[in-house]
Amino acid sequence: MKFEPSRQPLTGETLESLTAKLREHGEPAFRAKQIMEWLYKKRARSWDDMTNLSKPLRGWLAETFELLPMSLVHGKQSLDVTDKLLLELGDKLLIETVIIRVPQEGVGLENSRKTICISTQVGCAMGCKFCASGLMGLKRDLSAGEIVAQLLHVCYREDGRTERARAELASFDNIVVMGMGEPLANYEAISTALEIINANWGLGFGARRITLSTSGLVPNILKLADNPLDVRLAISLHGATDEVRSRIMPINKAYPLAKLIPAVKAFNEKHGRMVTLEFILIEDVNDSLDQARKLRDIARDLHAHVNLIPYNTVEGLEWKRPSLGRQQKFVEILREGRVSATLRREKGHDIDAACGQLRLKTEKDREVAALEEAGNN
Ligand code: SAH
Ligand code: SF4
Repeated sequence: MKFEPSRQPLTGETLESLTAKLREHGEPAFRAKQIMEWLYKKRARSWDDMTNLSKPLRGWLAETFELLPMSLVHGKQSLDVTDKLLLELGDKLLIETVIIRVPQEGVGLENSRKTICISTQVGCAMGCKFCASGLMGLKRDLSAGEIVAQLLHVCYREDGRTERARAELASFDNIVVMGMGEPLANYEAISTALEIINANWGLGFGARRITLSTSGLVPNILKLADNPLDVRLAISLHGATDEVRSRIMPINKAYPLAKLIPAVKAFNEKHGRMVTLEFILIEDVNDSLDQARKLRDIARDLHAHVNLIPYNTVEGLEWKRPSLGRQQKFVEILREGRVSATLRREKGHDIDAACGQLRLKTEKDREVAALEEAGNN
């Protein structure tokens, strides 16, 4: 399903594309910079906020662009470990954007490390057997403007401390592209969005604090390797042999380990950063000690960090997380092999699981949101 909005979102424009459109309309190039400033450095919430633009220009902008391509359905500000924003797109589809606060000892939650997890598609076509987004199938890609706008919504909501979207975003430690969807299956949109998020004229967020997670779309990992943007890469491995990986991730049939591993190496060579291998531990599926040993070998070969994530149950799926003892044995094999590995423990504090589990209980969520709103009025 494709969605063609009548007006393109302003949040999907790069300085270059906006300059070109303005020029066509007979405006000088510096106008584009002014407009970007209103959007990202100040916090223009309406065209009329842009007071240094003429009225006719504001009128033309309003006819041509949409300021924000989505609206907040639900997402009361609360100081929780994970905080979800439910956003409604122009065609009424819903997506979620998550704020994750990582509690640190001796520091209140309001001052803890903060990560934003963004979505890149509604649903996902990859069909991983353990994933809620995969179960749903792909509804559609998000546009670059819809990807960027999720961050603006977070900034607007985090309110109170600063008047500037960009300064607000700077108070976050990381952005992870780990929400709903396979980012590399929507390559053009995610790469434009990353450019806007990173650029000086845009949100100015350091590329090295952005992590993109992929299930292993090899040709686009290679494309990303050639992209000058220095984002971090995480690979959803979840199986250390083709046999196990193919059983739970259909993409492994097209891009088995013999193709995936060299692509990760190519990325490493160009970006010189430690890649993360994500490995969900699922009981009796991929938690054997043989899998641990094979994962250890892959991680050593790639100089990668391993992030072990005990499986989070998904409604309607029978998979389970292994016992704590089993998880511990698994991680010990990696550590004994001198692989840097983290084992996520506490439920709800788990960035990857919190993101991976974004799902679209569309109607249900809508009902809950409506009820809560009604209760608050
Ligand atoms: N499509 C991309 C990014 C989104 S998924 C990818 O697959 O990498 C983000 C992460 O959440 C992935 O590592 C995914 O495997 C994981 N995930 C999905 N379902 C999960 C679940 N039920 N429990 C724990 N992690 C899960
Ligand atoms: Fe898609 Fe990632 Fe879920 Fe696989 S794990 S179905 S690639 S969102």
